[in-house]
Amino acid sequence: MIVLTTFAAANPPATSVAAPSDPEHPEPASLVTLSVPDRTAMERLAASGADLTERMRPQPDGSVQVDAVVTPSQLAAYQALGASLAPETPPPPATAKSTAAKDQLVVERAVWFKSREGYFLSVEASSSAGQAAALSVTWTGQGGSTGRAPMTPYVDAGAYLGHQFSTPVPATSRPQWVTVTSAAGGTAQARVRAWPDGERPDRAGPGYQKDFVTQYMPPAQLNERIRALHRRFPKLTELITLPYPTNGYRRHAQALIGTPPAAAVVVTSDAYGSEGGNDLAVELADPGAPGRPLQVTVNGKLITVSLATDGSGAPASTAAQVAAAINATTLNAATGTAATLNAAPGTAAAGIGVKATTYRADPGAGVMAPAPLTQLSDFLHAPADVSRAPARVLALRIGAHRDGTRTGVLAYAQEHAREWVAPLVVVEAAERLLRNQAHDKATRRLLERTDLFVVPTVNPDGANYSFYDFNAQRKNMTNHCPPQQSDPAQRNTWGVDVNRNYATGSLSDGYFGASANCQSGTYAGPAEHSEPESRNVMWLAQTYRNIRFAMNVHSYGGYFMWPPGAYKLDGRVTLPRPTAQQEAYFLRSARTIEEAIAAERGTVTWPQQTGPVTDVLYSAAGNSADELWYEHGVYGWDFEVGADLWNPATRAWEGVGFQPPFAEGHAEAMEFASGLISLVGVAADYREP
Ligand SMILES: [Zn+2]
Repeated sequence: MIVLTTFAAANPPATSVAAPSDPEHPEPASLVTLSVPDRTAMERLAASGADLTERMRPQPDGSVQVDAVVTPSQLAAYQALGASLAPETPPPPATAKSTAAKDQLVVERAVWFKSREGYFLSVEASSSAGQAAALSVTWTGQGGSTGRAPMTPYVDAGAYLGHQFSTPVPATSRPQWVTVTSAAGGTAQARVRAWPDGERPDRAGPGYQKDFVTQYMPPAQLNERIRALHRRFPKLTELITLPYPTNGYRRHAQALIGTPPAAAVVVTSDAYGSEGGNDLAVELADPGAPGRPLQVTVNGKLITVSLATDGSGAPASTAAQVAAAINATTLNAATGTAATLNAAPGTAAAGIGVKATTYRADPGAGVMAPAPLTQLSDFLHAPADVSRAPARVLALRIGAHRDGTRTGVLAYAQEHAREWVAPLVVVEAAERLLRNQAHDKATRRLLERTDLFVVPTVNPDGANYSFYDFNAQRKNMTNHCPPQQSDPAQRNTWGVDVNRNYATGSLSDGYFGASANCQSGTYAGPAEHSEPESRNVMWLAQTYRNIRFAMNVHSYGGYFMWPPGAYKLDGRVTLPRPTAQQEAYFLRSARTIEEAIAAERGTVTWPQQTGPVTDVLYSAAGNSADELWYEHGVYGWDFEVGADLWNPATRAWEGVGFQPPFAEGHAEAMEFASGLISLVGVAADYREP
């Protein structure tokens, strides 16, 4: 079994970490590699709301391996859907069907690349026999070298897209010719081309400065960084405060009283924890006498439920009765009489408003036992100096002429909170452009010809939650779940996937790859653009009409992608494909940008991971790049930084995860900042058609 990371609280709370069975505390989550028998099983897994990463690898036997964030109970549920923890060694290829008729083969692409660990070969081919064909590749190369490797059928949403290697295969020297052979008799040959083979980046002049990021940064530090750049370079920059405040790094305070499921009550404050909710406490008192009625009183911030007793003096109130009594009681905070517990905001009693529910969907027929004083908590662990208020998202606009006459480039990061490297990419690129323009001619040209908008963190609330509470947080912090899904043990599943909340090719339009379940890793939200995080990104595209290029920075897996990014599952109908000319421009630009990435430390983005999202990864309904492209005509790219690392000892590619040791995160930031600057170069050369 491969377990990549066990997520724990980054700053563990002072109290001891609760056992998974503690109903008030979420189960621990781990980043693991799952294996599913085929692509259909993978789609079932996605549809079930699994929190899948972008690292997805088809295997030679037709199975698929995908990294996912799972809790123990989720793992058990996914095992029921056919998933298992991936074995350390890859499965053998499917056995050939020797009785099949001879098939026709086409080699779509055969390329070599040199990464820092040596030569690798990538081949894509298709067979007239489709996914049933058993294909393998032999190659010959420099110095008489040879090799052989099986191919993997790539099937997505029931459609056969061709065969490829599960991952690029190592070669002892540069491969020159490949022969693809089918077990059914088909054969095809092709010359092996170089990859990415784009325009090489300009060699940086002497004195070119880089390497400005020295640690992972939470939102407050990211914002301070771009504010400092604005103060240092006031003539070349402006700070833009995006118009839609987030909901804030804050939650309502809660307590779970009793024994779930039947004899428990969840109490939730109307006020956020930071605005008085955390000061509230609840106790369930035994009146100590027979025949007493159920009563609720308030003394300051303490809510006391005096349980009903039967003729023998034993407590007799059910969970449902206790919840109803709390909700119905009208009380005054000062006197314990009159007024209302659930008062309007701003009124004297507002600070003590609470709602009570039974546990999840349980009818609450269990009898409640007396319970000692329990303080409500928002369960948030960031230091007090991390603001709980709604956050303003900042953009730094960079350029010598910021008047709309230059080609605009939007670079935005951390739609997904746990992707800690992504903000570093855009901050490093911004700082390189500003600190080198005075003495580097190529940089000065970029600032003369382009108008760059950099947003280091689109989702600051989620990012704070990822830094201080739950590393694996992907979504924002806004809970749209109904009460039965809102007890505190479920808090790590709340939130909207910002990159599924956009309005083009969305879930509500019938596209695949987003969920209507508020606890899913890809929850699309209650409506298109329901979240301020997604509205802010679109506001930039609507307001600054000179923006022609966008880079949406994510991690991890090492992809470079563009639209279409979504399809309807039935018939696998994608959003309209770009024209052949546009597609060629996407690919040509991508190859140039990938050269710049590779120049940093030899990381080559694989050809099979360079292309439209739907071809190289999966369908992602309601993502931002699609809306930018289809609604605003912006060339919308996605970086998936954090390419696999080749392990020479095991001779396998290994995933890097969301928060690798900083040395690796730093290296990823350096190489993708170079890629982003190369994109600015593409924009500088762009001519409106
Ligand atoms: Zn992401």
